[in-house]
Amino acid sequence: MSEEGQGPLASSSAAGQEDPPSLAGPPRLILLPPEPDPEGPPKKRPRADPETGTVRLEERLYGVLCCTVCLDLPKASVYQCTNGHLMCAGCFIHLLADARLKEEQATCPNCRCEISKSLCCRNLAVEKAVSELPSECGFCVKQFPRSLLERHKKEECQDRVTQCKYKRIGCPWQGPFHELTVHESECCHPTKTGSELMEILGEMDQTHKKEMQLYNSIFSLLSFEKIGYTEVQFRPYRTDDFITRLYYETPRFTVLNQSWVLKARVNDSERNPNLSCKRTLSFQLILKSKINSPMECSFLLLKGPYDDVKIHPVIYHFVFTNENNETEYVPLPIIDSVECNKLLAAKNINLRLFIFHIQK
Ligand SMILES: [Zn+2]
Ligand SMILES: [Zn+2]
Ligand SMILES: [Zn+2]
Ligand SMILES: [Zn+2]
Repeated sequence: MSEEGQGPLASSSAAGQEDPPSLAGPPRLILLPPEPDPEGPPKKRPRADPETGTVRLEERLYGVLCCTVCLDLPKASVYQCTNGHLMCAGCFIHLLADARLKEEQATCPNCRCEISKSLCCRNLAVEKAVSELPSECGFCVKQFPRSLLERHKKEECQDRVTQCKYKRIGCPWQGPFHELTVHESECCHPTKTGSELMEILGEMDQTHKKEMQLYNSIFSLLSFEKIGYTEVQFRPYRTDDFITRLYYETPRFTVLNQSWVLKARVNDSERNPNLSCKRTLSFQLILKSKINSPMECSFLLLKGPYDDVKIHPVIYHFVFTNENNETEYVPLPIIDSVECNKLLAAKNINLRLFIFHIQK
């Protein structure tokens, strides 16, 4: 069960997702979780050559092509406001998500014109220009065209971080590629005794087992007699507190002949989620109909057929009664804050809910 779940319905071009064919760089880079950036925060670009007093063309282009929000060179898609101000995909989505949290129209930080997915477009010329600019490898500090940098950092750089080949039997060593051969020749893991290795492998098996348990329990749920699923659409609302808060609610929907509602909140209703970089969503399932006897259910939220959000499946469990018809708020297991911002930036959040009725 891969996260990419590329069924025929998962095509990203469906339902007007902004995902035009990328002509520059790897497509859909925006969907990847942020890697710990070995380059660290954007460095101040050297202004002028101290000897000649001139600024190199590349240096001048950095200033022209950088994102006007984070001032870094965009790594993937570049968007522009109607006045042409450039924003990297991450900043653009972040602005839209922030505006949603504050219930404001998102605006360009430079000219205050309105921005949205329909008002802004990609700028392919800038994306291509950026991919041609030299860029520094964070490991060896040499310069490469941006378009070649990814490969250099993954496969060619002598200083890239690598792991010992005995990682599979528990060696935790990590280090620069050029030290790998020496480490592996001295690594103590291949000389460990059988019983020492058995212990290490046992621990690794435990982790693997937990993952397998999840998938196995999904599979066994799938053979239940009563399974219902539906597409659910969370719509944004504001609380009527003094400082209003964003929350989401779905219209009533029917699954397994009962009427239900889902609610979701951001950062567990923290007062000012827009001040924090970490974004999470939690949700609760509410049974709206009256039932004759307690209803024991497992439920599971997954990505909807037309959305591209990355969710780790988690099965929740609850016994619904007429008195106790709401689950606690439980985490919506989105893989990270970037994915969460993508959901917030969208108008509605579309997911698929499965409910399994457990009958003993
Ligand atoms: Zn940016
Ligand atoms: Zn602007
Ligand atoms: Zn390098
Ligand atoms: Zn090792």
